[in-house]
Amino acid sequence: MRLKNCVPLAAIAVLAMGVAACGEDSESSEPRDKPSFAAGTTMERLSNAQKIVVGTKFDQPLFGLKGLDGKPAGFDVEIAKIIAAELGIPADKIEYKETPSQVREQVVEQGTVDIVVATYTINDKRKERIAFAGPYYVAGQQIMVRADDSSITGPDSFKAGDKKVCSVSGSTPAANIKSYLQDEAAQLVLFDTYQKCVDALKAETVDAVTTDNVILSGFISKSDGAYKLIGTKFTEEPYGIGVKKDDAEFRAFINDVLESIATDGRYEEAWKTTVGKVDPEVPSAPAVDRY
Ligand code: GLU
Repeated sequence: MRLKNCVPLAAIAVLAMGVAACGEDSESSEPRDKPSFAAGTTMERLSNAQKIVVGTKFDQPLFGLKGLDGKPAGFDVEIAKIIAAELGIPADKIEYKETPSQVREQVVEQGTVDIVVATYTINDKRKERIAFAGPYYVAGQQIMVRADDSSITGPDSFKAGDKKVCSVSGSTPAANIKSYLQDEAAQLVLFDTYQKCVDALKAETVDAVTTDNVILSGFISKSDGAYKLIGTKFTEEPYGIGVKKDDAEFRAFINDVLESIATDGRYEEAWKTTVGKVDPEVPSAPAVDRY
């Protein structure tokens, strides 16, 4: 861990305690010194350019949440920083583009971003348009309601037809919840970001928000007790990193990076400094799927 902007004595004390109490730059984002890559690869192009454009979320606490400095922070952002560092690109040379769920395939196809790291479930439909490295985490869909609501206990509670649920266009939870609804047009409210769903829950224009458990946990952690998770996870959402469909070398490179960080401490550190603040149990990184 490299510490910046600290007086030396304070830095020594902080290092001795093994915690970071002042301006911190994690080892995870320490760039490799002039790594070399095969000519013509995306890795070579990005490394030479000393720049990478990362599509991520800007409104999701713990994964990608834009801070006062204008930059997103969270587990996805840490994963992106590690990939950049392995390309020899420092964290301050990463350009982040807000990438809501619905546009993720499109921005990869169009090349407006180099990678998408955005709570992005790997599935066959998406693989028709892009390729995924990973998974690097496996979430599961769940439901969040207002803390004082005991009328919804799981997805089956929507079958009666009188409850409204909010999710995000182009997301897997929005698609999955449909099979539990009696009247999709009346019950399903879709926005482009989860924050808008949370606002609708607060305003009581919807009764629930559904998406991945860890995204909902992030909103709950910021809600001062206003919301709660109910039931259990009812899907599997393996998170991958979106790259161009035909870029097998870049995908293999990212898979190599994910495999090495699973055991060298960087995955653990990325978790602990982000999601770990709410969920301290570090997950074991899932095996990458080199399909
Ligand atoms: N992981 C799910 C998906 O990729 C939900 C989260 C999101 O919309 O980013 O659709």
